[in-house]
Amino acid sequence: NLSEKLDKALHVLKGHGQITEINVAETLKEIRRALLDADVNFKIAKEFTNKVKEKALGQNVLTSLQPGQLMVKIVKDELTQLMGGDAEGIDLSGNPSVILMSGLQGSGKTTFSGKLANYLQSKKAKKPLLVACDVYRPAAIDQLHVVGEQIGVEVYSDRENNDPVKIAKAGVAHAKANGCNVVIIDTAGRLAVDEQMMTEIANIHKAIAPQETLFVVDSMTGQDAVNTAKAFNDVLNFDGVILTKLDGDTRGGAAISIKSVVDKPIKFIGTGEKMEAIDVFYPSRMADRILGMGDVVSLVERAQEQFDEEQARKIQKKIAKNRFGFDDFLSQIQQIKKMGNMKDLMGMIPGAGKALKGLDIDDDAFKHIEAIIHSMTPDERSTPSKLNASRKKRIATGSGRTIQEVNQLLKQFEQMSKMMKMMQGGGGKKMMQMMQN
Ligand code: GDP
Ligand code: MG
Repeated sequence: NLSEKLDKALHVLKGHGQITEINVAETLKEIRRALLDADVNFKIAKEFTNKVKEKALGQNVLTSLQPGQLMVKIVKDELTQLMGGDAEGIDLSGNPSVILMSGLQGSGKTTFSGKLANYLQSKKAKKPLLVACDVYRPAAIDQLHVVGEQIGVEVYSDRENNDPVKIAKAGVAHAKANGCNVVIIDTAGRLAVDEQMMTEIANIHKAIAPQETLFVVDSMTGQDAVNTAKAFNDVLNFDGVILTKLDGDTRGGAAISIKSVVDKPIKFIGTGEKMEAIDVFYPSRMADRILGMGDVVSLVERAQEQFDEEQARKIQKKIAKNRFGFDDFLSQIQQIKKMGNMKDLMGMIPGAGKALKGLDIDDDAFKHIEAIIHSMTPDERSTPSKLNASRKKRIATGSGRTIQEVNQLLKQFEQMSKMMKMMQGGGGKKMMQMMQN
């Protein structure tokens, strides 16, 4: 599914703190492929990756301290924007507020009507009325009555009448007479878009002038969902979209495409058959779901908050002058530690949880490194090349660690300084140029 594919696409970036020109291009390509596979329209997918690339360049991803995570954050933010930015509520200002349901047969209109009534009654202290305008199947009226009974909401129906426009009007009048401040009108659908259905829903819409016209769509129908949304929007100019059946393993592609094609907010999602399975649609949460990123984003945010920029600048200067020493290394470790417990941090990285099972990563690793550095003289810290065998032995004894551990730390330190010098030099600039191509 899309989550797994994007997860894979972002894998390279997530694991390493490093981005190269190769994995940027590769990642963008993978992201685009994943979106296409999830039934996201080609044009939208292309625009999306272009925007991500632009942002990555604008924010100097390649020279940032945590390029991989910054990239993940850019992808997530862009995806959130694409799906609508902030969550949008529904208009409940009318008295009564009239809400009209539209959509194909089986999309989940009747179920969602019940869910919404239940939500407004229990969460918004409203007194809703459900109106049964699906006159073609007697079972449809029964279904709404069952739902109403389940949630304790009155249902208005008229089995003698087969004109949905008249029933809708009578329903609104009934609500007014009985002090109901929300009217939810459940309508009939067809298996596919047809002339008669469109005319009927358009007539109801005209007759009752609802505050909210909602288009209900089964998110499992992929690219078809987009076409249906467009057809309904052309006739109704609806106010919002309801994505149903987003439980289980459903692809999230529909959410991305629909918003882009009809430019209407997704307002609620249905996540199961039960009356409680309704959620306000939050674009950022949906982006998380689609990306399957777990808590990576909050990890990134925490890292960005904690990193002392002043410190970073100082260290960069020292690297440039070839004077990066163990004191700087120590302060970097302290920065990392400020971000929180090592296990917690690792746990936020998707996939890391499994890999860490059985492995005992704890803050002791850092304690040992700190102990070793603390046993060095200031001179040794700023000029590590002075560390000969006898000094190493003294440090090991002083810190209570082994010679092997001291050597290992020196090796790590050396690799790290080498890498930093590379990033400082022409490398960064070259990477940026490659990325632009
Ligand atoms: P309508 O024809 O548009 O009124 O659709 P219904 O409300 O009758 O729903 C059609 C089928 O989809 C029913 O079996 C519902 O139980 C099911 N359904 C509706 N919403 C959801 C949902 O969010 N998740 C799941 N799993 N099933 C749903
Ligand atoms: Mg129905």
